[in-house]
Amino acid sequence: MFDSLSDRLGAIFEGLRGKGALEEKDVNEALREVRVALLEADVALPVAKDFIAKVKERAIGAEVLRSVTPGQQVVKIVHDALVEMLGGEDADPSLSFATTPPAVIMMVGLQGSGKTTSTAKIAMRLQKREKKKVLMASLDTRRPAAQEQLAILGEQAEVKTLPIIAGQSPRDIANRAIEAGKLGGYDAVMLDTAGRLSIDEQLMTEIADIHAATHPIETLLVVDSLTGQDAVTTAEKFKERVDITGVVMTRIDGDARGGAALSMRAVTGAPIKFAGVGEKLDALDAFEPKRMAGRILG
Ligand code: GDP
Repeated sequence: MFDSLSDRLGAIFEGLRGKGALEEKDVNEALREVRVALLEADVALPVAKDFIAKVKERAIGAEVLRSVTPGQQVVKIVHDALVEMLGGEDADPSLSFATTPPAVIMMVGLQGSGKTTSTAKIAMRLQKREKKKVLMASLDTRRPAAQEQLAILGEQAEVKTLPIIAGQSPRDIANRAIEAGKLGGYDAVMLDTAGRLSIDEQLMTEIADIHAATHPIETLLVVDSLTGQDAVTTAEKFKERVDITGVVMTRIDGDARGGAALSMRAVTGAPIKFAGVGEKLDALDAFEPKRMAGRILG
């Protein structure tokens, strides 16, 4: 194992206390450590480079404060820049309902990313905390058990799911769900789209078609934080085809260093709204940039 980034930066700046301004030579050395730590945490290289440039600009010439060591000071500059890049201090997990009901929330992502589980988790959260009436529908017609899986999760979460009609196309199911949403006075209709093990053209065309037909107010990309760089590539591919409005990072309870989160905003331009922190339906947190920054810093 390696020392935490905070410790390594502390070591570089040991003995510099009270020296005046942070010097370029010391800052460069520190930033080499930061870069290594970011890459170890699975941050994409271009994202790491941009980040380093930003921190360098802030750090060089910064007055060395008397109250802290220069190491602590650089750690703080890095920490603040991380928080900013992850969404800022006041990151907001709320979803938009600024439309004629039902608000369509489309869930996209690869198979196994935790999409179906996250759909049920978010639906339950909206119902319980925000008193929204939610209807869920699975558009995955290829995996035989997918629609049943959502129905089972719906029962556990006490969230209604659209009754399954065999043989319908994803477009038909989506239309039926929205119609049922209107008739039933639902605030939100959550569409759990089909995933694949990897990106393929047919899947992307299907997702883009459904997106164009259903006009979701939120399109949430679900990514598995444990897949690191692959999660970033997945996000790039989805972003090419649909307008992503938010990201859900799952398996944050695993031991990933969290670098994928840092890249995610840069790649999708969308905020990370939620963090999946376990298999249970209540294991969903609002994404907290500060907590994640602490994790990346180690
Ligand atoms: P989908 O194929 O993308 O719909 O993925 P599923 O929702 O079926 O999830 C795949 C597996 O990952 C299931 O066993 C879930 O219980 C599990 N899972 C989903 N989200 C999380 C999470 O945040 N943490 C953990 N530990 N497991 C999760």
